[in-house]
Amino acid sequence: MNNTASSNNTPAPETLNTTSTPPTWLERDIAKVKPQPSHPLTAVETEPSSQCSSCHTVITNTALNFNSYVCPHCDHHLTMTARDRLNWFFDSIEQELGQEFNSTDPLGFVDSKPYPTRLQQAQDKTEETEALVSMIGQLKNLQLVACAFDFRFMGGSMGSVVGDRFVQAGELALDKGIPLVCFAASGGARMQEGLLSLMQMARTGAIIERLKQAGVPYLVVLTEPKAMIGFAGKRVIEQTVRETLEEPFQRAEFLLEHGVIDQVVHRHQLIDTIHRILAKLTRVNL
Ligand SMILES: [Zn+2]
Repeated sequence: MNNTASSNNTPAPETLNTTSTPPTWLERDIAKVKPQPSHPLTAVETEPSSQCSSCHTVITNTALNFNSYVCPHCDHHLTMTARDRLNWFFDSIEQELGQEFNSTDPLGFVDSKPYPTRLQQAQDKTEETEALVSMIGQLKNLQLVACAFDFRFMGGSMGSVVGDRFVQAGELALDKGIPLVCFAASGGARMQEGLLSLMQMARTGAIIERLKQAGVPYLVVLTEPKAMIGFAGKRVIEQTVRETLEEPFQRAEFLLEHGVIDQVVHRHQLIDTIHRILAKLTRVNL
């Protein structure tokens, strides 16, 4: 009896199902995808851009160029190629020097690759013929000779041609009695040229001494704040002395405190600083 009564009051489950059958997953309405609000593309999405190696912000190349390759977000000084640096430094360029010197392979040197192959690859990568670019031109009211190393070209290492170009730049400065400025970013000697590479130290040292004796200013710019400066790298020294060397060992600021370099200058003030020093040394009006 109880069973009959309850079946009268409550509809059987089958009856409910026939009135409102839920759709199968094939019949179900698909939720509409909301259209994304279209935003105007930012400059870094439409223009050639680079990423800051310190804070990883993406900046357009135009903005970097206008800011002297200094990151506008974290003030990191990005590396510049030798040619970019000289184009940035000079107000006007009279002539590029040393293009007549070309590298050869005097020792027939082969490591994992033959030296001529390495040279060709470096030339293809950098679109430069060697690791040193030198030019004569004007900086404001001063005529001067400047050269810059390109670290991308076999680590800016000094082979015979780099030596030739540096000596030529020094001799021109000496003949004309105008300053010589060198932007150094070098990885040292070029082992593929063996003793001939080491000989360049004597040659370049000799021309610097001649400039000094003649009273012609010679200025070395060790590229930028936090630049690594040293004869041998940190890792090599650690292996030799068996001690761990903490930062800021070999950094520009550390060497300034210890009297090895004279100034650490922000790139935005670098041209004015170099001009002011050279004008004083050459007694030219500022
Ligand atoms: Zn940055």
